[in-house]
Amino acid sequence: SRNVVKMEFMSLPENVALARVVVATMLAGMDCTLSDLDDVKVAVSEAVSNAILHGYQNRPHGRVYLMVAVDENGLEIVVEDYGRGIADVAQAMTPSFSTLPERMGLGFAFMQSLMDRLEVDSQVGRGTRVTLFK
Ligand code: ATP
Ligand code: MG
Repeated sequence: SRNVVKMEFMSLPENVALARVVVATMLAGMDCTLSDLDDVKVAVSEAVSNAILHGYQNRPHGRVYLMVAVDENGLEIVVEDYGRGIADVAQAMTPSFSTLPERMGLGFAFMQSLMDRLEVDSQVGRGTRVTLFK
């Protein structure tokens, strides 16, 4: 059975958990393993955290768009922000690269390894769209 949810929320750190709950709830009825579910929850958390922390530099009034589509063949998740954007996507996706010194720079690496496919589209000053497939 197919389900699609589209929502938008403010760039508040507590909404990372909201996104995780939405995905978990939507997958609960599907036959996927618990470890698959955990993988997807981590990946969506990383994407939403990036939107808030990097896209909006932790400012609370940004809009984050989330789309989740699930069916028996798999799932697609879109996380989009309208914040600062990424100048060099390939560099940003390199493991251990971060523009913040206190960060590990592993978010994209996790998304890549936990999901089957990751697409990143970004324009400086316009925002970033991350699409995750499994
Ligand atoms: P970690 O995820 O380990 O806490 P990180 O967020 O820096 O550290 P990644 O998630 O891999 O690491 O992101 C790498 C870099 O890509 C970030 O440091 C940031 O410069 C850039 N980036 C990622 N997402 C966005 C975004 N939505 N908007 C703007 N820049 C982003
Ligand atoms: Mg990150």
